[in-house]
Amino acid sequence: MEESILNTGGDSELASKLKLQDLESQILDLKVKNEEMSREVAQLRRENNQLKRMPLFVAVVVDILGSGEVYLRQQGNNQEYITHVNDDLFKQLKPGTKVAVNNALSVVRIVGNIFDSRVRVMELEESPAVTFEHIGGLEKEIEEVREAVEYPLTKPHIYERVGVEPPKGILLFGPPGTGKTLIAKAVAHEARATFIRMSGSELVHKYIGEGAQLVRELFALAREKSPSIVFIDEIDAVGSTRTNDGTSGSAEVQRTLMQLLAEMDGFDTRGDVRIMAATNRVDMLDPALLRPGRFDRAIEIPLPDPAARKEILKIHSRKMHLEDVDLDRIVEMTENTTGAELQAVCREAGMMAVRKEATGVSQDDFEKAVRKVKAEVILDLRMYT
Ligand code: ATP
Repeated sequence: MEESILNTGGDSELASKLKLQDLESQILDLKVKNEEMSREVAQLRRENNQLKRMPLFVAVVVDILGSGEVYLRQQGNNQEYITHVNDDLFKQLKPGTKVAVNNALSVVRIVGNIFDSRVRVMELEESPAVTFEHIGGLEKEIEEVREAVEYPLTKPHIYERVGVEPPKGILLFGPPGTGKTLIAKAVAHEARATFIRMSGSELVHKYIGEGAQLVRELFALAREKSPSIVFIDEIDAVGSTRTNDGTSGSAEVQRTLMQLLAEMDGFDTRGDVRIMAATNRVDMLDPALLRPGRFDRAIEIPLPDPAARKEILKIHSRKMHLEDVDLDRIVEMTENTTGAELQAVCREAGMMAVRKEATGVSQDDFEKAVRKVKAEVILDLRMYT
């Protein structure tokens, strides 16, 4: 009996030993597996980092679909797709967020907000500080612009009552530096509208491949910030007949122009976004831009006549202390001079007086300034011809 108890004791000890050995070998297996897994994790980390370092596409979130899915549109080719995003990123995304996407179309990180890119290319001023008092001459032209741009924003009921559709787009044309941008800003000020300016040549030369997208964003921003005035400067860079020469660059410009026309066609003339454009080369514009329902009112902004030149000189010298200056004499000396050049004459005359540490600006300073600015203009012309 005693022996059988002892035997049983020996058996259980043996069983425990075997179990221990078994567990130890399992631990060993697990250790080996753990090492394998660690190696695999390290490898995946390396691959992941590698993936992150590969060139990434930029896409914009169009919509958040819930359950971790987002609807993206890739910039450049406008391809649209739906992809799954991890929880951390998902919480930070909203429509309009720019994201970096890898080859497998997974979102890798957030790049920024779409608004940043728009601000990069567009000048945006909420109710600019320029008023009509800052503009010399151009009374008739200003009134025409006000009727076409400002009153539809400030007095839309009159147009409705009379049953007249205001023009959809207004084109200002004339030599550079004659006050086209100035008028657009003053009108925006008067209408308490946001002034959004985009340069056609920047769109074409600086943002290659992004033109059409930026035009879309320009109009989206204008709607968001309404009442607003969209001002497209140097529109000839986008809408010139000469750019249509069949090269790939011209195809891109053509796409930008198409987008612009599509945006204009989709616009309500009575809405609170008004569209203006400016050019120095109206003769080169694509006729498609000038069709009814697009830039259907063209207003010429000419070189200032003598009375306007005097006004402009007065505006730009109003803060100066003038000593017996005969502005009429300066007006005579400045035939065929733009507003921007007259501004330069005033600035230059002021600088001459400062250099002499004089008490004010004299006639001689002004006459010397005219000669200097004229010489610079001739030099500029030589460089560009
Ligand atoms: P661009 O075609 O080169 O864009 P623009 O016609 O739009 O030229 P503005 O930018 O309006 O010219 O004018 C440039 C500067 O010249 C203005 O900031 C302003 O100081 C001055 N200027 C031009 N015209 C006038 C004007 N009629 N009255 C007062 N200042 C003027």
